[in-house]
Amino acid sequence: MGAANADATGSRIMVFVRLRPMSRKEKEAGSKTCVKIVNKKDVYLTELASENDYLRLKRVRGRHFCFDASFPDSTAQAEVYSTSTADLVEGVLQGRNGTVFCYGATGAGKTYTMLGTMDNPGVMVLAIKDLFLKVRQRSYDGNHSIQLSYLEVYNETVRDLLSPGRPLLLREDKQQVMKLLQQGNQNRTTEPTRVNETSSRSHAILQVVVEYRYMDGTSVVTRVGKLSLIDLAGSERAIATDQRSQRSLEGANINRSLLALSSCINALVEGKRHVPYRNSKLTQLLKDSLGGSCNTVMIANISPSNLSFGETQNTLHWADRAKEIKTKPLTAGNEEVFKAPDSDTDQAKLVLELQKE
Ligand code: ADP
Ligand code: MG
Repeated sequence: MGAANADATGSRIMVFVRLRPMSRKEKEAGSKTCVKIVNKKDVYLTELASENDYLRLKRVRGRHFCFDASFPDSTAQAEVYSTSTADLVEGVLQGRNGTVFCYGATGAGKTYTMLGTMDNPGVMVLAIKDLFLKVRQRSYDGNHSIQLSYLEVYNETVRDLLSPGRPLLLREDKQQVMKLLQQGNQNRTTEPTRVNETSSRSHAILQVVVEYRYMDGTSVVTRVGKLSLIDLAGSERAIATDQRSQRSLEGANINRSLLALSSCINALVEGKRHVPYRNSKLTQLLKDSLGGSCNTVMIANISPSNLSFGETQNTLHWADRAKEIKTKPLTAGNEEVFKAPDSDTDQAKLVLELQKE
C-alpha cells in the first residue's frame, strides 16, 4: 500500500527523500557519509557532529528532517514506485491529475529514480506498466486511450523529445516504453558545466493522459486524468557554474524555471489566490498539475557524501518547505475535482503555443 494513503484526506503534497549509494568517484575522493536515515522517515545530516548523536542533532536547526518516507540507499526502484507514485496512478484512472517531481543537485539520482536503467527501470516506466495493468483489469466496462508526451524545457524553450507536434498514442509494451524514453533522454540537452561534465541542464517532463469512456445508462461519460512525471534540472546554484560563458544565461533560465516553481509552491503554501504559473515555461506546463485538486508528490534526491553537504542541506530545506503545500481534499463538495482537466488536445495546443513563444 502506498504511503500516500497515510494522508487519507489528500490535503497536502507528499514529500519523500531518496538517498543514493556512495559513488566510486566519491569514495576515491575520500568522502565520508554525512546522511543517516532512521526508521525510513527521519533524515539526519551528521557532518559536524558525532554520527550517532541523533538526540543532539534533533535540536540543531537544519540537521534533522522528517518526511512521509525516506528511502535509504538500499531501496529498490519498485519500492520507491509503490510508496510514492502507485496511488497517483490509481487517481489518474479516476480522473484526478497527479504530478511527481524529482528535485536535487546534479548527480543526486533524479534520472535514476525517474527513468532508471534497462535492468532497474524507474518511476516513469513502472508507472506506465502499472497503468496498463490497471486499465486491463477494468477495461471490460469501457474504453481507454493512453497518450504520452515527453518534453524538455531548456533555456526557457520547450522541445518535444519524442514526436514533435503531437502526443503519442501508446500501446502496451514495457520494453518499448523504456526504449522510447531512453531515446527521448538522448535527445535531452546535456552541456558540460564546471561542476559536472555531463550534468543535465534541462527539465524533462513526461505527461501521460488517460482518457476513459464508458456508458452510463444511455450516455457516454468521459473521464480524463493526467500524470506528469518530472525530472528537474540540477538544483545547484548557478553561481557554481561558469559565469563568463553563454552558460550563465542558461543558468539564469534554469533558475527562472526553478524559481518560478518555488514561487508557485510558496503561493500554494500560503494559500494565495494568485499562483504565478505564467512566470516560466515549466510552471505554465504544470498549471493544471500543481496544487489545487491535483495529487502532488516530490522526491528529493540526495548524495550521502560530505562533499555535497551544502547541496544536500539545501535540497532537504526545499523539500521540508514543500511539505506545507496544501491541496484540496477529494470530496463531493469540491467542484474542481469534477471539472474535466485539460483534454489532450488542449494540452497539445498549449505545448505548441509555448514552443512558439
Ligand atoms: P541526476 O539525474 O540527479 O543528475 P543520476 O540519476 O544520473 O543523477 O545519478 C548519478 C549516478 O548515480 C548515475 O550513474 C546513477 O546510475 C547512479 N545512481 C543514482 N541513484 C542510484 C541508486 N539509487 N542506486 C544505484 N545507483 C544510483
Ligand atoms: Mg539527470
